Amino acid sequence: RSGTVLFEPRMLLEQNERRALEEDLRAAVRNGDFQVFYQPLVDVATTSVRSFEALLRWPHKTRGLIAPDTFIPIAEETGLIRPIGEWVLRQDAQRLAHWNAKVLPDDPIWVSVNVAARQLTDPGLVEIVKNTIAESGVESGQLKLEITESMIMADAVTAVGALDQLKTLGIHLLMDDFGTGHASLSYLHRLPISTIKIDRYFVGRIDSNSECLEIVRTILNLSRSLAMDVVAEGVESSAQRELLQSLGCEYVQGYLLSPPLDADAAERLLLTNRAVESVAKG
Ligand code: C2E
Ligand code: CA
Ligand code: CA
Repeated sequence: RSGTVLFEPRMLLEQNERRALEEDLRAAVRNGDFQVFYQPLVDVATTSVRSFEALLRWPHKTRGLIAPDTFIPIAEETGLIRPIGEWVLRQDAQRLAHWNAKVLPDDPIWVSVNVAARQLTDPGLVEIVKNTIAESGVESGQLKLEITESMIMADAVTAVGALDQLKTLGIHLLMDDFGTGHASLSYLHRLPISTIKIDRYFVGRIDSNSECLEIVRTILNLSRSLAMDVVAEGVESSAQRELLQSLGCEYVQGYLLSPPLDADAAERLLLTNRAVESVAKG
């Protein structure tokens, strides 16, 4: 009545495709048809693996391995993120328990799990995390949850409440994509965060753009003042790694060190004295 709506046949196609993908996703949730990949996070000086970030993949019968950026938004919109998130947590806790027992009884690692905005405001999350830890027998300190600034800003009261409860359980919390969100500084010192992950936008430009270099230096100084650990993500060149090391950044993650690996390859890495370069060569 008050305007014109444009419709193209292409839109119907997109809608149908999206509906088909959603149906397939429901079936995948029912069958647990997902795969977790693990990207090492290494000590910048020794390249020894300290941790893995769990990154979800969906092996689809006709589309191949679907990346999370494609299906996580659908999962969030449809509420499927709840069972998917629970599946990921359980999978990672079991994997950690296995690695604790078989691979590194004396020198445990930790695993970081990405959490979606909708999970953080889910009143059931704390209970799910608690049960998962109890069932698997891993130490709560071995599990890190990765959250982002924008997730907190969307519903700060609920989010901060959930974070405080998770901290009480002994779970470590990591602020992902740091530097890309909003109003972060006013919140940072009030949140129970133990680690900051510098966004790959800055890390990827650290050796070519002096402003990005200064931003990384500032984030490192800030995290030291707040007694938080720092990880630089998206490290793709030796020049970037060397700069980060000279600035005092302790942990790095990125294609230079290793891409995300399937669980067997990650386990082999843990068995071969945990230095990523030995895998690259061997
Ligand atoms: P993220 O948490 O920021 O994860 C880092 C992404 O950067 C991953 O993409 C990783 O494969 C990629 N990456 C790693 N090293 C490099 C590098 O050197 N250069 C570049 N350009 N990229 C690198 P991926 O696996 O496709 O994941 C995309 C996003 O999907 C993640 O971003 C995360 O937000 C989300 N995601 C992944 N797994 C899960 C999950 O289990 N649950 C939820 N809720 N979200 C997930
Ligand atoms: Ca992440
Ligand atoms: Ca990130």
